[in-house]
Amino acid sequence: MAFSTRLGGVSAGPFAWLNMGGRVGDDPANIAENRRRFYAAIRVSKVTYPTQVHGDRIVRLDRLPTHPEHADALVTAVPGLAVGCMYADCVPVGLYDPVNRAVAVIHAGWRGTALDIAGKTVKAMRAEFGSRARDLFGVIAPSIGGCCYQVDDVVRLAMTEADAEYACAFTPDTPGHYHCDLQQINRMSLLKAGVREGNIDVSGLCTHCDPRFYSYRRDGRATGRMALVACIERI
Ligand SMILES: [Zn+2]
Repeated sequence: MAFSTRLGGVSAGPFAWLNMGGRVGDDPANIAENRRRFYAAIRVSKVTYPTQVHGDRIVRLDRLPTHPEHADALVTAVPGLAVGCMYADCVPVGLYDPVNRAVAVIHAGWRGTALDIAGKTVKAMRAEFGSRARDLFGVIAPSIGGCCYQVDDVVRLAMTEADAEYACAFTPDTPGHYHCDLQQINRMSLLKAGVREGNIDVSGLCTHCDPRFYSYRRDGRATGRMALVACIERI
């Protein structure tokens, strides 16, 4: 399980440096070199990414797909089959089951978070691989933090309708606006699904505050993407 930062790549301008995103307007040759470098560093040869749609569709991969799946979570138990998601503020969540040797990568923006995609992926791993929630390790990688993520009533209502307890992740700002801690809500989602508190690592890093990361909110449409990649090692 690994996530990339901006550091160590060859892209320039708004994509400087290690842009992993293929559909953001960056030079394809630079993206290929960036991916080659990151994959070499984490010892994978190829990574399968879904076409992310801000939904709650979870796809199990048993082989390399012939076309990208429209989904926001991928799960696999095939050694050597690396799966990934792309981010520039949304919450990257990874899951690892050391007992059944299975992994998941999840892209949780506010819509996916309100749909409880993290908790649903825990349940999908149980259905697909027999994973027990208490055996799982979860990681919540850098995303826009509660410090910088201002939202309106629409987002707050979507979250509190999903679970009234999520209200604790909102801090009032100007009238009708709040600061929202999506990492905290995803952590609560994993806990509700049965993942043990001590097994969840929350990065706490904010992509908007920290210049080591791309941020869609800070930089606008022309910016790069980080990747979260998970893979079961071949033994
Ligand atoms: Zn911040």
